[in-house]
Amino acid sequence: MDIMQIVVTIGGSALIGATLWFFFGKRGDTGGQGGGELYTCPMHPWITSSDPTADCSLCGMKLVRQGSGTGR
Ligand SMILES: [Zn+2]
Repeated sequence: MDIMQIVVTIGGSALIGATLWFFFGKRGDTGGQGGGELYTCPMHPWITSSDPTADCSLCGMKLVRQGSGTGR
């Protein structure tokens, strides 16, 4: 059993996980800051805007407020 291989494998996975968490987890955290409500497309969650009247640039749907979800 090669301990270095295990360490590198776990380290790599942790790095990828941390990167994903940084991008996706951080977005949830910013909701706590005042003033910046974020609106997102229900079909395309990566489309976000701070403008409540904005439409999704992909499908044209009206954006809904992020975090006010009708279920997770
Ligand atoms: Zn959309």
